Amino acid sequence: MTDLAGETASACRVCGGEVAEFLDLGRQPLSDRFVEPGELADEFSYRLAVGQCASCTMVQLVEEVPRQLMFHEDYPYHSSGSSVMREHFTEIARDFLRTEAADPFIVEIGCNDGIMLKTVKDAGVRHLGFEPSAGVAEVARAEGVNVRTDFFEEATAAAVRAAEGPADVIYAANTLCHIPYLDSIFRGVDALLAPHGVFVFEDPYLGDVVTKTAFDQIYDEHFFLFSVGSVQAMALRFGFELVDVRRLPVHGGEVRYTLARAGAREPSAAVARLLADEREQRLTDRATLRAFASNVTTIKDELVTLLSGLRAEGRRVVGYGATAKSATVTNFCGIGPALVPFMCDTTPAKQNRLTPGRHIPVRPPAAFADPYPDYALLFAWNHAEEIMAKEQAFRQAGGRWILYVPDVHVV
Ligand SMILES: [Zn+2]
Repeated sequence: MTDLAGETASACRVCGGEVAEFLDLGRQPLSDRFVEPGELADEFSYRLAVGQCASCTMVQLVEEVPRQLMFHEDYPYHSSGSSVMREHFTEIARDFLRTEAADPFIVEIGCNDGIMLKTVKDAGVRHLGFEPSAGVAEVARAEGVNVRTDFFEEATAAAVRAAEGPADVIYAANTLCHIPYLDSIFRGVDALLAPHGVFVFEDPYLGDVVTKTAFDQIYDEHFFLFSVGSVQAMALRFGFELVDVRRLPVHGGEVRYTLARAGAREPSAAVARLLADEREQRLTDRATLRAFASNVTTIKDELVTLLSGLRAEGRRVVGYGATAKSATVTNFCGIGPALVPFMCDTTPAKQNRLTPGRHIPVRPPAAFADPYPDYALLFAWNHAEEIMAKEQAFRQAGGRWILYVPDVHVV
């Protein structure tokens, strides 16, 4: 690695400490920017590299992509696309509705299409979602969910506090790790949260990423990779305390963190337990992160060898799930239409467009069975169970799945 400009320039976005790079995933496009055929000029790219803060241990990107480029009107990710996720969010909403507050007020940062808040709305409970992407915000509104098309920050949070009073719960799913300017989020939470309220967020877990070598969890939108240790340090820094943690099986492995104002609630035993696990695993040691980076290179080499071999044998390979994650894999590994002629995806906004960077055509799910390919490269591996159950006919027709997490294998 000779291009170290980013390495020396990078300061931790949480504490200002020095961020030392340990993984370079090369030039990458915006992971959700699916391009129209014929509209290939001027594709934005940046260097996707990951480092760790020497002071607070927070793992983070070295280069930041301007948020306006990522969370725009056409942001194509809809949380409600998966039945597993719908169930997941209904469950957490029911948890929140068990609050002891008399007239609870539940706020969500990045409410997407309203998948969680809809349950809250149906219970007749006061709520508000912040959602900067106008397209998905409109879907939430159509469900009757109260949405503010805005970024959550100190000024917007204070405005809500003035109008509605304090929030008993502030929740964010797969949102906080997207936001480099967390100091502003915490000022907003401080402005809006009731004295005994909780700030709950869930995001991909560094422990799962390292254990599974799930390097595709790293892309423009995932600026931070949280661990319990780094979140605890961050909470303290902003006047809060980590009072509960829970591991979640969704999105390839996440942790749900519950924060309260410092001293307001007693931390649960689960916090100490997961912290001890991280220490035992040496999760945030440089040696562990370097070993992870080396495993990533192995996956790249093996995946490209496998796909090149299948092409040489004349086998048909189709990509399954044009996820944001898949952009990291295709661009880092150099996988284009020559190795994967097209990808299938259920999101209409992605169909008949080309994947970011490598320009693999995206087709509707019907194209998958027309006729079935010999192999399907499963980019949406975090939904593997749900997908494989749905696509049993593919296996019965002799098709095989290619997975690359935790290593390259065919099933
Ligand atoms: Zn730091």
